[in-house]
Amino acid sequence: MDVVIAGGGPAGLTAALYSRRAGLSALVLEAQACGGQMNNAPKVENYPGVSGVSGAELASVMRVQAEAAGAEFAVGTVTGFDFTPSALAAFCGGKVCGAKALVLAMGTERRALGVPGEERLAGRGVSYCAVCDGFFFRGKNVAVAGGGDTALQDALYLSAVCAEVTLIHRGERFRARARLCEEAKGKGNIRFLMPAVIESLSGESALEGLTVRELTTGAARELAVSGLFAAVGMKPRAETLGGAIALGEGGFVLAGEDTRTNVPGVFAAGDIRAKGLRQIVTACADGAAAAAAAAEFLR
Ligand SMILES: Cc1cc2nc3c(=O)[nH]c(=O)nc-3n(C[C@H](O)[C@H](O)[C@H](O)COP(=O)(O)OP(=O)(O)OC[C@H]3O[C@@H](n4cnc5c(N)ncnc54)[C@H](O)[C@@H]3O)c2cc1C
Repeated sequence: MDVVIAGGGPAGLTAALYSRRAGLSALVLEAQACGGQMNNAPKVENYPGVSGVSGAELASVMRVQAEAAGAEFAVGTVTGFDFTPSALAAFCGGKVCGAKALVLAMGTERRALGVPGEERLAGRGVSYCAVCDGFFFRGKNVAVAGGGDTALQDALYLSAVCAEVTLIHRGERFRARARLCEEAKGKGNIRFLMPAVIESLSGESALEGLTVRELTTGAARELAVSGLFAAVGMKPRAETLGGAIALGEGGFVLAGEDTRTNVPGVFAAGDIRAKGLRQIVTACADGAAAAAAAAEFLR
């Protein structure tokens, strides 16, 4: 295979499309459904050329387009890589997928809160995806932790499904876009608890409540909730890279706009790359740049 792409989000799908258009064979290895984080975006309003589509719809169109261009797909988790320049390969589902060039497009996942009880209650009330799990908490009281766009989007999404949503943020101000903050303030069933931190979670087999410390007064209060959605930032899915690929702050892959990493023939595209803006449009741009760089490398 000319180009093996680990991850089928917008970065990986665009790398596949552009690789095929450059005359290269391309294989996308995807652990779940193609589309990545896009699949969790209820509505995408900032991808140029389309409006009002869901992320899942956009993902489906991107996948069909890459497939029509001749890209190949395999479902499986990449568990590691061989970064030896003359023998590049991805290990997936017990197979060795040899490549002349590799594109790392595994994206990011949500960071854990790091509070006692979180690990034990993950999947039992503690969730990292409101769109995926919100339905399980319909009619119940839930909390969202975080103060950025994702936290506000989660709170708004959950306010339509749950009885009451408490948004807990350690800062005095939100980092989220003003429009989202205004929308959230207009919802009768979203409460704000800030500045405040979650100190611990309670419940044996399922989440029952949180202990929250209000930072202004120092007072601790108990909050009875059956769901807690963590939205306190993202971390790169770089655990499969070993020590061969240079990583920067926060563990993101160091690569410039041309997506070249420190290893010849290995390119990093999308949210996994150290960069300023992580969006669908920038992930697609990286995917295109990675395919172009791979084509140049193979020439
Ligand atoms: C709820 C939500 C709403 C959003 N809304 C918007 C929006 O409106 N507009 C916007 O521009 N952006 C939005 N974003 C951000 C946008 O979705 C991301 O910036 C973009 O999806 C990043 O693309 P990517 O291809 O780099 O990574 P990802 O989308 O994270 O895709 C990575 C893919 O790699 C796969 N993968 C990871 N590890 C492995 C492995 N070891 N083996 C095989 N496959 C693997 C994953 O399953 C995933 O499919 C939103 C994100 C979220 C979570």
